[in-house]
Amino acid sequence: MKKFILAIDQGTTSTRAILFNHEGELCYVAQREVECLFPKSGWVEADALSLWVSVIDVVNEVLVKANIKMDEIDSIGITNQRETTIVWDKKTGLPVYHAVIWQSRQSDYICDKFEKYKELIHSKTGLLINPYFSASKIRFILDHIPHGQERAENGELLFGTVDSWIIYKLSQGKVHATDVSNASRTMLFNINNLKWDDELCSLFNIPKCMLPKVYDCSFDYGAASFFDKNVHIRGVAGDQQSALFGQTCFTKGECKNTYGTGCFMLMNIGDKPLLSSKGLLTTVAWKIQDKVVYALEGSVFVGGAIVQWVRDELQMIRTAKESEEVARGCESTNGVYVVPSFVGLGTPYWDDDVRGSVFGLTRGTSKEQFVRACLEGIAYQCKDVYDIMKKEAHIPTKSLKVDGGATSNKLLMQFQSDILQIDIKLPRCLETTALGVAYFAGLNSGYYKNLQEIIEIHSYQAIFEPKMEKEEVKERYKGWKKAIKATRVFKI
Ligand code: ADP
Repeated sequence: MKKFILAIDQGTTSTRAILFNHEGELCYVAQREVECLFPKSGWVEADALSLWVSVIDVVNEVLVKANIKMDEIDSIGITNQRETTIVWDKKTGLPVYHAVIWQSRQSDYICDKFEKYKELIHSKTGLLINPYFSASKIRFILDHIPHGQERAENGELLFGTVDSWIIYKLSQGKVHATDVSNASRTMLFNINNLKWDDELCSLFNIPKCMLPKVYDCSFDYGAASFFDKNVHIRGVAGDQQSALFGQTCFTKGECKNTYGTGCFMLMNIGDKPLLSSKGLLTTVAWKIQDKVVYALEGSVFVGGAIVQWVRDELQMIRTAKESEEVARGCESTNGVYVVPSFVGLGTPYWDDDVRGSVFGLTRGTSKEQFVRACLEGIAYQCKDVYDIMKKEAHIPTKSLKVDGGATSNKLLMQFQSDILQIDIKLPRCLETTALGVAYFAGLNSGYYKNLQEIIEIHSYQAIFEPKMEKEEVKERYKGWKKAIKATRVFKI
């Protein structure tokens, strides 16, 4: 057996290459920051060639660090920031416009025109109309380069999300492909029949000839001949879906939450694409060996970011880590609630016009209590998402698997367990996003025999069990709901 699987994780702020061994242990890692460009207010772009160069750099560096050659790599997995849109020239392999990053609002005005199709789009794609998703970004690019539409119709241009772009470059232009999980974030992919949707493509006037072929997450995408013609790409998935897989949420009802700048919660809902009426997204989680699994997805806009705010703007702490120590300086917030809705409220409130707020201050409120209330605000928001998910999916859940930077905060994790009244499981390897595609790749190559083998090697560094009395949870959550209600009264 070859020594490692190489996972490439191309994210919004950095690109990473990680070597995993058969036990799913992270053995070597190399990382490069990537630069975002902000050409106008609300626009976020990146140089697509720089993204590719960062991939070359980290792969080379990780091989050097491990002191191995490519021939010790079993296979490659690719995971990526989702929805980010790249259009390139088929002949030259060069991008015709910057990569338009998922957060960018530059195609807002295009989405506005499609408001009347929102139900059609939701039923076909599981998504809400929003410039996040690729369709309006492709439209934007074709409208902003010379003869864009004409060149696309003539088959001169190719579209891809970041996975497609990396596959194309690694295969030296031989393979133009994506996987079902990334395709399901484009707003052009029908999640019911798992095909590009003719009606949606014509609505956005996007020629189908520019779209990549769509394959399973665990599939032989071809040789990464840029590095070595004997090493194949065998795993591809969008970052959140990959993390769900890397957390071994293989059965219906299993759920993961990532605590980064924002929080992303996904629940495995089995083989039917259940649609939400409360603003959760329905998405393809993965497809392996012709079996498809769907997920419900909800997000919290401000998660760990509130800790950064307390550190950088309020300067109450010097490091994010210190938030735990400071919060431990008090027994409770004594009725203080911080609602971190700096940019509006997401699931399940969907209110753009509110801003952050603080309730319950007294003359005696301490810094410790304030910092604790900020951390609790992250956990309450996640409970809001979790409760809706549980309600809409009608699936009992026993635990929540967690990852992301803020999971190093034990106080936050314990409070999350208390307030949800379920176990919070922190895996041994926190790089679950990269691990997910390593598993997909290994399942295709035979490095792993089956899912059971992966479940057996997966272990946890900590499990937080609920300690708070149910009555107390009820009281505290009631306070949070009151805070939310009051927050929504004060519109900007
Ligand atoms: P992203 O992938 O979104 O950049 P990360 O997973 O790297 O995010 O996590 C970074 C976030 O986690 C930051 O917002 C930071 O404030 C928060 N964070 C990191 N360590 C802690 C901690 N010990 N307690 C609370 N928040 C933390």
